[in-house]
Amino acid sequence: MKEKKEIEWYFPECFDEASCLLKKEGVIPHGGGTSIRRASLGHLFGLIELSHLPMHYFLVDDGIIEIGATNTFSDVIENIRKIDPKHILVKSLWQAASTPLRNRITIGGSIAYFPIWSDLMGSLIALDAEVTLIGKNEGIYPITQYVNDRNLRNGTLIKDIKFKQNGWSSYYHRESRTNFDYSSFNITILLKTTKTKIEDIRIVLVGCTKKYKRLIELEKYFKGKKVTKINSEEILGSIDVTFPAKKLGSPEYISHLAGIQLKRGFEEILNS
Ligand SMILES: Cc1cc2nc3c(=O)[nH]c(=O)nc-3n(C[C@H](O)[C@H](O)[C@H](O)COP(=O)(O)OP(=O)(O)OC[C@H]3O[C@@H](n4cnc5c(N)ncnc54)[C@H](O)[C@@H]3O)c2cc1C
Repeated sequence: MKEKKEIEWYFPECFDEASCLLKKEGVIPHGGGTSIRRASLGHLFGLIELSHLPMHYFLVDDGIIEIGATNTFSDVIENIRKIDPKHILVKSLWQAASTPLRNRITIGGSIAYFPIWSDLMGSLIALDAEVTLIGKNEGIYPITQYVNDRNLRNGTLIKDIKFKQNGWSSYYHRESRTNFDYSSFNITILLKTTKTKIEDIRIVLVGCTKKYKRLIELEKYFKGKKVTKINSEEILGSIDVTFPAKKLGSPEYISHLAGIQLKRGFEEILNS
């Protein structure tokens, strides 16, 4: 009979120890463990449990928010709510999964895994967050660089993320068939206005063909415009995003729906 493979658990207490473990073949970090399923354990020899590392901090210093990678979605909601109850991460994360799952899913695991239904990544991309890495590619990187460069992920550990506190107004929409379902797509909009004009805007869609898209052209169109001069019907024609087929419907149907939800989002945030 074939012998059952034992998976070794490691519990490092300092980053040097964790860095050494990351060099071992088939040994990967374990955050909340919600994506490390039995089916994918075949190639694994060990798991590095991260909860003993000093990464469970939440700091606000000189206008920068710094969140350690082992904070769960629930931790982040609780901490950010104290300084900004309407923060985009409060609006997005409380809608993710269920309460027991939000108590387990970590920030680090969700960035590294970046599922197409992520309720975290749209906000972090819109906020221009930076990721601090430990191990092979030690350093601080823009979140989009981490997402797009697979080489950065091998043998590295996400230690924390940081972003500017800034006074954004925000809008979040999560499209799903039921509350507990994975989202088919989600929309993040951040906005800054002077008395009458749009000073800055960030628009990110998650769940599309290339996993995410920041609508840079649309952001350019908005910047400097008078809020009263925006015609959201007109904008819809300029949105160029494609979607794969999902349980919600065909690619065409989802694209159409995303356009409608974007329009609603603009109207809501511009009138708020
Ligand atoms: C039923 C269900 C519903 C869900 N619904 C949603 C939802 O609606 N919205 C949503 O946003 N998420 C949802 N999730 C969570 C999502 O699918 C992933 O499971 C989650 O983001 C992974 O986070 P984790 O902390 O559990 O990571 P883990 O499962 O521990 O790890 C994920 C990957 O990241 C690596 N990793 C972990 N921590 C680090 C680190 N610090 N540095 C580098 N690499 C690391 C691991 O090695 C692994 O490869 C759901 C999960 C489940 C099971």
